[in-house]
Amino acid sequence: MKRKRIIGPVIFFILAMAVAVLGIIYATDQFIDYILYNKVSTEYEAASVMADIYRSTEDKDEAFILMNRFNRDFYVVDKNGKMVCHRGELTADETSYKVKISAFRKNLEVTAYKDREINVIYPEKGKKDKAGELDFSLKKFIKFVNDESDKLEDQGLEIAVDAEGNQFFVGYDDEDFEMLNLPIWLTVEDEDGQEGEDTVVVKALVRLNEQDIIIFVVIMAIILVVILVVIISIFTRTISNIHRQKKVTNYFFTDTVTGGRNWMWFLIRGEQLLTKRSSIKKSFAIVNLEMMNYQNYCLCHSVPEGEKLLGKVHEEIFKAVGKKEICAHGGGSNFGMILEYTGREEIKQRLEELIGSLQTIDSGHKFNFRAGVKILETRTDESGKAVRRKEIVVEDEYINACAATASLSGADESGVAFFDDKLIEEEKWQDSVQELQEKAVRNEEFLVYYQPKYDPRTNKLTGAEALIRWQSPELGFVSPGKFIPIFEKNGFITNIDHYMISHVARDQKAWLDKGYKCVPVSVNVSRAHFVENDLAEQIRDMVDAAGAPHEYIEIELTESAFFDDKKAMINTINKLKSYGFAVSMDDFGSGYSSLNSLKDMPLDVLKLDAEFFRGESADGRGEIVVSEAIKLAKSLNMRTVAEGVEVKNQVDFLAGEGCDMIQGYYYAKPMPAADYEGRMAEEIHDSEAIAETKDAKNDNKTEAIAEVVAEEETQNKPTNDNTVE
Ligand code: C2E
Ligand code: CA
Ligand code: CA
Repeated sequence: MKRKRIIGPVIFFILAMAVAVLGIIYATDQFIDYILYNKVSTEYEAASVMADIYRSTEDKDEAFILMNRFNRDFYVVDKNGKMVCHRGELTADETSYKVKISAFRKNLEVTAYKDREINVIYPEKGKKDKAGELDFSLKKFIKFVNDESDKLEDQGLEIAVDAEGNQFFVGYDDEDFEMLNLPIWLTVEDEDGQEGEDTVVVKALVRLNEQDIIIFVVIMAIILVVILVVIISIFTRTISNIHRQKKVTNYFFTDTVTGGRNWMWFLIRGEQLLTKRSSIKKSFAIVNLEMMNYQNYCLCHSVPEGEKLLGKVHEEIFKAVGKKEICAHGGGSNFGMILEYTGREEIKQRLEELIGSLQTIDSGHKFNFRAGVKILETRTDESGKAVRRKEIVVEDEYINACAATASLSGADESGVAFFDDKLIEEEKWQDSVQELQEKAVRNEEFLVYYQPKYDPRTNKLTGAEALIRWQSPELGFVSPGKFIPIFEKNGFITNIDHYMISHVARDQKAWLDKGYKCVPVSVNVSRAHFVENDLAEQIRDMVDAAGAPHEYIEIELTESAFFDDKKAMINTINKLKSYGFAVSMDDFGSGYSSLNSLKDMPLDVLKLDAEFFRGESADGRGEIVVSEAIKLAKSLNMRTVAEGVEVKNQVDFLAGEGCDMIQGYYYAKPMPAADYEGRMAEEIHDSEAIAETKDAKNDNKTEAIAEVVAEEETQNKPTNDNTVE
C-alpha cells in the first residue's frame, strides 16, 4: 500500500522536473533568439548609416574615413563585384552551394550560394516569420555553420547569409566563430534596391554584454522560482495527502478497545510479514494469548474498566514484541502475535516471561493467561533450499494457535501450549465423534447414568441428576466432558437432550410401574436448545409419550444460558412450570451474573456450583458465601442443591445451613440405571415403603426389586470417605 502511495508522487516529480528542464531549454533558446534579433537589428541600423554615409558622400576617400569611425570592419563592392574599399579582412569569389540544415525538431533545406569573389556562403533567400520579424532561418543557418564549421573550414569557405531582401554575410572566422560572438556580415543595398550600384557590407558586432547576462540570469531565476514553487506546492500537497491518508488508515486499523492495531491489520500485516521475500529463511510462531476470567473482572468492576485493563495488557505485549514482530487485540480478551521463532524452548520462555509480567498488571488482582503457539517453520523445496511462503491464511494459522490454547482448558492456571500432532489427533478424534454421533443415537450407545441427590439432614434420597455416558464400540467409553462441547458446537446437543429426556421419562415410568418411590430426576438442557420457541412443548410431549408424570422430571439450565434471550427464557421457564416440571439453575456461581438472573427467573431449584466446595478458604469466607446463597434461595422460595460435595465436614456444614440436597461423591458417583434402581430400592427398604407397594404391585415385581436391593446394597452404599474417581 505504501509503495503505491509513493510511486505516484515520484513519477509526478520526475515528470515535473523533465518539464522544468525542457522549459528552461526552451526559454534559453527563445532568449538567445531575442538577443540575436535585437543585436543584429541594431547592427543593421549602424550598417545602414554607414551605407548612407558612403552613398551620400561624393569623395569616397572621405566616406571611407567617416565609415572607419564606426570601428567596424566593412567592404564595398561595385556592380561588377569588384572590391572598392575595405577595412579589416577581405573575402572574394562566388559560387552556388547547397546545404541541408537540421534544426530543432525540423529539417530545413536551404539552398546557399558561395560567393566566388568573397569566398563566403549565404542562403538563397531568408524567410520572414509571420510577424515580419527577422528570419528564423538565419539562426538555423548560423547553427548549421556552427555545427558544420569543420567541414566548411576544410573547404576554405567563409559564410554569408541571405535573409529576405537583405543579405547577411557570415564571414567564417575560426577564432571568433561562437554562437553569440559571430562575425556577421550585413549587406546594405542601395535605397531602391537596384542592382548595379555599389554594395556596402558591414561586419556586425554581436556580443553579449553584462546587462544581457543579468537579464538572462534574472529571467532564468524567475522561471526556476516559478517552477520550484509549483513543484514544492504540489509536493507538499502530496505529502499532506499521504499524511491524511495515513491518518485515515490509522483510524481504520486502530483497535477501539486497546488503542493499538486491530485485528484486520493483524491479518493483513501478518500475511505480508510471513510471505515477503526477506522472510524466506525465517521461522515464525503465531501466538494466541488469552486472558482468563476477563468477564469476571468486568462484572466486578465494569466493562470500561475491563477495557482499560485490556489496553494495559496490549501495552505490555507491545513492549515484549520485537521490531519485526507484530501483535494486536483479537476478540474478547484474546491477543494475537507473530513472533520470530528461534526454538521451542526460547518461545516458551519468552511467553512465560510475558505472562509473568502480565499477571501483576493490576496490583489488586492476579490474572491468568494461556498462550497457544503454532509454529511456521521455513519452507524448503525438494533440494532443501528455503523457499518463499506463497500463500498463508493468517486466520487459519491463528485458529491452530487457539486450538493449542484450548488444549490447556481444564487447568485454570497460566500456561503455554504448542499446536502439534497431538492436537491434530485431537481434531481427528473430534471429527470421528461427529461422524459417529447419529449412529450412536440410533444404536443407543449413549447410556443414562444417575447421580443421586440426598438430603444431608436425613440422608434420604430426594432426587437425582441424569448424566450422559457414551459407550462407543469405536471410541470406547467417552466422558461427557469430551463430547458434549463438540455437540454444543455442532448443534447435535439438541438431539442428545431429547434422547436424555425421553430415556429418563421412560426409566421413571418403568420404575413407577415397578412400584418404586421415585424422586424427581433432573435432565440437563443445553443453552443451544433455548433458541427453539416450543422447547417447553417438546419436553412435555416427550415426557407424555413415555407416560411419566411431569413432577418426576426436572429441567436443569446452565447459568450461561440465562444471558442469551432473557424474554424467551422466562417464557419457556413459565411454560415448563405450568406443565408441572420443576426448573433448576445449574452451576450457580460459576462465573456469570447469577444474582441478576435470579431476580428475573421464576426458578424452583438453585444448584450451587461444585467450585464452592473446592479447596479450603482459610478465613471461612467460602462458607459465608454458601450460607448466604442458601439463605437467598430460601427467601426466593427456591430449594438448594450443593454439587460436588466430597467430604463429611462439608455435608455437616451444609446440613447446618439448611441446604436441601447434596449431589456429590460423598453420597454417590453417577451410576448406571440399574445401580440407581438399587438405591431407590434401598430407600424403600429403609422406609418400609416396600410393604405399602407390596399390595399394590404384583409379587414378581417386588421379588425383582428385592433381588436388586440385595445386589446393590453391597456395591453402592453411601460412604463417609472421600470417594473421588
Ligand atoms: P454438570 O451438569 O454440572 O454435572 C455435574 C458433573 O459433576 C458431572 O460430571 C458429575 O459426575 C460431576 N460430579 C458430581 N459430584 C461430584 C463430586 O463430588 N466431585 C467431582 N469431582 N465431580 C462430581 P459429568 O457427568 O462428567 O458431566 C459433566 C458435564 O457434562 C455436566 O456438568 C453437564 O454440563 C454435561 N452433561 C452431562 N450429561 C449431560 C446431558 O445429558 N445433557 C447435557 N446437555 N449436558 C450433559
Ligand atoms: Ca447439571
Ligand atoms: Ca452442575
